[in-house]
Amino acid sequence: MIVLDREIPVRALMLQAAIRRGFPEFEEELQQIQSGLYGEQYMDRWWSDMQLTQDYALLHNFCVQFGEFTNQMDTVFLSRHFALVVEIKNITGTIAIDIERDQMIRTRENGEVDVFRNPISQVKRHQRSLQFLIGDVLPIERAVVFVHPKSLLGTIPRQEAVFRWGGLEGHIRHLFSQHRLCLSSEQLTELATNLRKYHQLPENPLSLDIQRMIRGVLCSKCRYKVKMDFMYGQFECAQCKWRSIEPVREALQDYRLLVSEWITNREFRDFMGIRSQDAAARLLKKLNLEKVGSKRGSKYKIK
Ligand SMILES: [Zn+2]
Repeated sequence: MIVLDREIPVRALMLQAAIRRGFPEFEEELQQIQSGLYGEQYMDRWWSDMQLTQDYALLHNFCVQFGEFTNQMDTVFLSRHFALVVEIKNITGTIAIDIERDQMIRTRENGEVDVFRNPISQVKRHQRSLQFLIGDVLPIERAVVFVHPKSLLGTIPRQEAVFRWGGLEGHIRHLFSQHRLCLSSEQLTELATNLRKYHQLPENPLSLDIQRMIRGVLCSKCRYKVKMDFMYGQFECAQCKWRSIEPVREALQDYRLLVSEWITNREFRDFMGIRSQDAAARLLKKLNLEKVGSKRGSKYKIK
């Protein structure tokens, strides 16, 4: 049973919007997120392939806010015997984890060395957070899984559950044999449903120089490189001549992700490049946005 499915992180959507609006400096962070997401989605498919006969519930990308901090657990596996927090890593090269110095070291094929956060410390922190949320109803285990076909596990502390993805299944079967039954099926469902309620995605706005932002409605058929002109209630691409009002919805989403979820008629005209206040009002009406306030003080909520 999947209680929480993995979604594209809001942060990735923000970065995509920023890149097409003239901030290429976010490309590296976007690539990192996409590579992580790819690994996580790859791993997600394995759960059903394991064909476990026991009841279980999965929460993917389970985010819980603790004060200013977000604990983002890649996957939480809940069964009637135990819970397991899984940290998923999608990196290439030879991996070594140095517990004493709290670091993960990756050596690439060409000999270059990179240092990362220690995933065992990360997963231990998630384990404590989960314990805080569910108490002692289930024993909580932890594991770190490497999913990239070109990752080679080198020096890893023996006592820790760290594997390539294929090792997780055997580990889970081992854990079932180690832990006694703690919950009924109904209690497991209730626990998973209650835990789901703590899920809250972080929304950290990007810090951007808004003055530098490329404005206007951009043509998706021209890979967002060409601005569209407002003509008779629609937008037309200067290059491919595509006419539609649909691209304005995408432009509004960029505005929501990068500036604000609220927009006034004036801000709408400035951003979309529309001169007439009435034409903008008609278009806003057509887009069916929720309007709050009246006359000059009115603003629209971007969904
Ligand atoms: Zn075009």
